[in-house]
Amino acid sequence: MYSLLDLIKKGRIFQRDQAVTWKCRLCGYVKADTSPPFSCPICECSRIFFEVRVQEF
Ligand SMILES: [Zn+2]
Repeated sequence: MYSLLDLIKKGRIFQRDQAVTWKCRLCGYVKADTSPPFSCPICECSRIFFEVRVQEF
């Protein structure tokens, strides 16, 4: 299991094997995908502002 730091080091923080919900921390836009958009379609911020929203199954 990777820690968050490992994920960042490996550059995999923005790439998931399964679709997850990405949320823009600036405007709240959400998108379900394996990786976040390059920029937010609503506020046009960079993808670095996207965070994974953990979903309950
Ligand atoms: Zn946004």
